[in-house]
Amino acid sequence: MAVSSRIQIHPDILNIPYGDRKRIIDACRGKEGLANLASGCPDMPVPAFIMERIRAGLDSGYAPYTNYYGLPELREKLSQYLEAECDIEADSEKELLITHGVQEGLYIVMRAILHPGDEVLMPSPHYAEYYMNAIACGGKPVLVPLDEESGFVPDLDRLEKAITRKTRAVVFSNPNNPLGVVWSREVLEGIANLAKAHNLIVVVDEIYREFTYTEQPPSIGALPGMKERTFTLGGFSKAYMMMGLRMGYVVGPAEAMFSIKNLHYCVVLCPSYVGQIAALAALDCPREQLEPMYREFGDRLEMLYREVEAIPGVSCVRPQGSFYIFPNMSCFGMSSMELALTLIEKAGVVTLPGTEFGPYAEGYLRLAVCAKREQVEMGIARLTKFAREFG
Ligand code: PLP
Repeated sequence: MAVSSRIQIHPDILNIPYGDRKRIIDACRGKEGLANLASGCPDMPVPAFIMERIRAGLDSGYAPYTNYYGLPELREKLSQYLEAECDIEADSEKELLITHGVQEGLYIVMRAILHPGDEVLMPSPHYAEYYMNAIACGGKPVLVPLDEESGFVPDLDRLEKAITRKTRAVVFSNPNNPLGVVWSREVLEGIANLAKAHNLIVVVDEIYREFTYTEQPPSIGALPGMKERTFTLGGFSKAYMMMGLRMGYVVGPAEAMFSIKNLHYCVVLCPSYVGQIAALAALDCPREQLEPMYREFGDRLEMLYREVEAIPGVSCVRPQGSFYIFPNMSCFGMSSMELALTLIEKAGVVTLPGTEFGPYAEGYLRLAVCAKREQVEMGIARLTKFAREFG
């Protein structure tokens, strides 16, 4: 009809891929009793200290709009935290923005820095949303493969060869989702040197920083000469079990942040009031309420790794961070998607096919430890039984 024929969705938006993750969710619909080794949403409550402050905040009876860029006291406290924990110096007025999760940060940063056709380097397998956001923002993702044999550490020569006149940025997470690895200072220095030599922007996602089970690497934005070309994205979702409260932040150079803040205003107006009460509390939360949680995920991940790595024919890089392992399951002779669907149907275990994270991950699965421990154990038992019966 006349009116609807005016609706011509922009090609960049039409080109956002649907994603294997959504196919798995579709396949699980209506099935009871599945063991979930797929979800990246931890099944743990918000720490008691934070909950108390949320309740007190809500009891005031008000839920106003706040400062568009985040409550000044939250930005100030976060700026102090970033300096103390990450060596990142961020002016709370000019260089720091509170966002609706890292997810908003990804979009507004990419939307602001990418010009049509700009190439964005993504060491891959990669978090699918980097790809989706680059496409949505008119950019061109350029995947640079990571090899299991080298522990999914980037080959800097390969990364450099992928750089062209059109390369604007490189984006990655550290610790890495989906790979579970943590790139060391040396690797980050290598990436930083490339970025400086080729005048690239670095967009780094450090949402899993607290879930580092090896030596803590620096923030790439804190390395010499990197502040002016790095956007550091971080958040409260995972570190404080606040996934649904949608709190994240972006740190970046002041001039660019001025425009990015303007775009943020268009998209969300201001961050959620209750989310910010929780984020303020999170930064004051006693470590005794947090450390055991972080340790629990590390223990579960090690348990999952040991069991999966022991399955004949399966290989797996030892996890160093995040909630994930990324085993090579090509010995089953199926595509990642076929295997993930078979596991749902035949074993009652939900996993994510590696191909959710790009074509270089064919033959792999991503397994997570976010479900309750008993469910993770059940998932492991079902997976190993399936493997025994299959073999
Ligand atoms: N970045 C990575 C690497 C993630 O794994 C996730 C969620 O799983 C996000 C960002 C989303 O973060 P937020 O909840 O802060 O939007």
